[in-house]
Amino acid sequence: MRLVLLGPPGAGKGTQAQALAALWGIPQIASGDLLRAVVREDSELGREAASYMDRGQLVPDELVLKLIAERLRKKDARDGFILDGFPRNVMQAEALAAGLERVGLKLDKVVAVIVPDEEIVKRISGRRTCRNCAAMYHVIFEPPAKTGVCDKCGGALYQRDDDAEETVRERIKVYEAATRPLLDHYGRLGLLAQIDGVGSTDEVEKRILAAVDGPAASGQAGAGVGRARL
Ligand code: ADP
Ligand code: ADP
Ligand code: ZN
Repeated sequence: MRLVLLGPPGAGKGTQAQALAALWGIPQIASGDLLRAVVREDSELGREAASYMDRGQLVPDELVLKLIAERLRKKDARDGFILDGFPRNVMQAEALAAGLERVGLKLDKVVAVIVPDEEIVKRISGRRTCRNCAAMYHVIFEPPAKTGVCDKCGGALYQRDDDAEETVRERIKVYEAATRPLLDHYGRLGLLAQIDGVGSTDEVEKRILAAVDGPAASGQAGAGVGRARL
């Protein structure tokens, strides 16, 4: 399965991508996680990326595309992947399609998780992430057993700098301007399913599973000739 999860910040893409990755045994590839790893290195590039992320703006395509291409080339992504947070604009979507096509592959499905703005702000303001394993929690909706501690690995939970309310508003605007056009883009390609992201995480997961079983999820690449692996 080569799946893209689309949706506004806080829609639950990461939560769902982690669950589906475990279910299917394929990696979750989150551009935000790849970028945060670069930022942690404290390099010139990391500082540049952070300057965009802290403002809620998109990091330049060139850097994001390089990180995604490197990640997709790793062995564990050969038989499928779940992209979370990438692509975020039409340029990135076209670069992804071209990169996959070069190795005889294509996306199976794009699922957009639809959540209203008020719910987004509630979800993001309570979001906590494990510093160690990146597991996701919510102080009200998905609280850990012990405050501030990851259930899975005992790591410390933290709140992302860019989850401050003002930055979230900016990220929603950026989503509307740059990312929402991808719904039309993938709709035209016949790859898109839109699902309601409001409900329990299990309910949302079931909707995604139903959507990827739909008619557009052919799972086959090109004409099947000379099919290579990315
Ligand atoms: P969320 O899902 O809450 O929006 P992400 O972790 O996906 O958060 O992204 C955090 C930030 O990282 C974004 O606001 C943006 O600055 C940057 N970022 C993530 N993915 C991309 C991308 N595909 N292109 C450009 N910038 C990105
Ligand atoms: P995204 O990757 O789209 O930015 P996340 O998966 O990080 O979104 O989810 C944002 C926050 O909302 C997290 O704190 C997460 O625990 C919580 N969350 C995710 N799915 C749901 C849901 N179905 N109902 C309530 N809260 C949710
Ligand atoms: Zn953890």
